[in-house]
Amino acid sequence: MIPLYKPYLNGAEKLYVNQCLDSSWISSRGEFVSRFESGFERFVGIRHAATACNGTVALHLALAALGLGPGDEVIVPTLTYVASVNAIVHAGAKPVFVDAVQSTWQMDPVDVRRKITANTKAVLAVHLYGAACEMDELQSICRAHNLYLIEDCAEAFGTYYRDKHVDSFGDIATFSFFGNKTITTGEGGMIATNNSQLFSTAHRLKTQGVSPTREYWHEVIGYNYRMTNICAAIGVAQLEQAEQILGMKRQIAAWFNERLSGIPVTLQHEPKDNRQSWWLYSVLAKDAAERDGLRNALRLAGIETRPFFHPAHILPPYASGLHFPVAESLSARGINLPSFPGLSESDVDQICEAIRQYYGSRRSMIAVDFSSRRGA
Ligand SMILES: *Cc1c(COP(=O)(O)O)cnc(C)c1O
Repeated sequence: MIPLYKPYLNGAEKLYVNQCLDSSWISSRGEFVSRFESGFERFVGIRHAATACNGTVALHLALAALGLGPGDEVIVPTLTYVASVNAIVHAGAKPVFVDAVQSTWQMDPVDVRRKITANTKAVLAVHLYGAACEMDELQSICRAHNLYLIEDCAEAFGTYYRDKHVDSFGDIATFSFFGNKTITTGEGGMIATNNSQLFSTAHRLKTQGVSPTREYWHEVIGYNYRMTNICAAIGVAQLEQAEQILGMKRQIAAWFNERLSGIPVTLQHEPKDNRQSWWLYSVLAKDAAERDGLRNALRLAGIETRPFFHPAHILPPYASGLHFPVAESLSARGINLPSFPGLSESDVDQICEAIRQYYGSRRSMIAVDFSSRRGA
């Protein structure tokens, strides 16, 4: 079986985790937490980064630090992982959905403009499947309407928009280090910002709102969203391999792009000035039936795949009867292919051969159907 993903743990992960155990620094204090944070700041080019125990609470922290809450509307793409939307609700604010762009699969700035009301306070841009949103457009909308811009970079570690790593185009950004993300700590997250004031607010909320100068003096109602030193130890080892991991994913995407040419699937477009991280290499089938057939054929060939996320507006807690035709279509047709660092060229050959065979057999079915109708 070729799995969709497995983490690449070929560096100093074991050594560093054992250092935590040997030294007994296994909780959220210890040298690896600050080493991971400062290494991360350097890698993504941000002034301040703080670890969190997962990407979902990192989003909640970012929204809470901006002071978003009841009565506030946050514009978010409907085509995203549900955590982006849930975090808005956790903060007490209201998610307002926008549709996706057909070619890039990212949130549609035209729809963002349409959804702005007197209550809109922020735009939460999600860089989906390793590609970047149209940040120029989103920045100018947010500037014109005095809105905060938040970036959910959970799927975009190593993604560059016009030569700059995503995460500093808005006020604050978040990352996830879940087991299938580009770099992982098992469970883990990060907030990142260039704004010192916002950073210290987020940091205080993360650590039970405790005063930096007086013990057990809690100035605001905070949370315990800290990452453990053990997770951070894995993170430090992952960062040391980050360039290598991203390089492998780029190579995998190039192999796929080359071998899938001539097969009737739609590939993810990479704008000329951007650099994608190719978190999950993904393609679109013609329609839902073709996608489901393709997934089934790949499963029978021992290849694990995933469907795209369901757009949030059709999930039970968010169902509103509204329609977002592009997101609905992408979601019904999209398929994530195995994309883990370490996937070999012969694995990619095997996957693409199975895809070619599926379309080959479909074509002959259509041909038979056509000729029999002509005969009748
Ligand atoms: C993975 C992911 C998250 C949440 O991260 P967790 O670490 O699983 O909580 C948030 N947003 C997006 C877009 C994600 O893909």
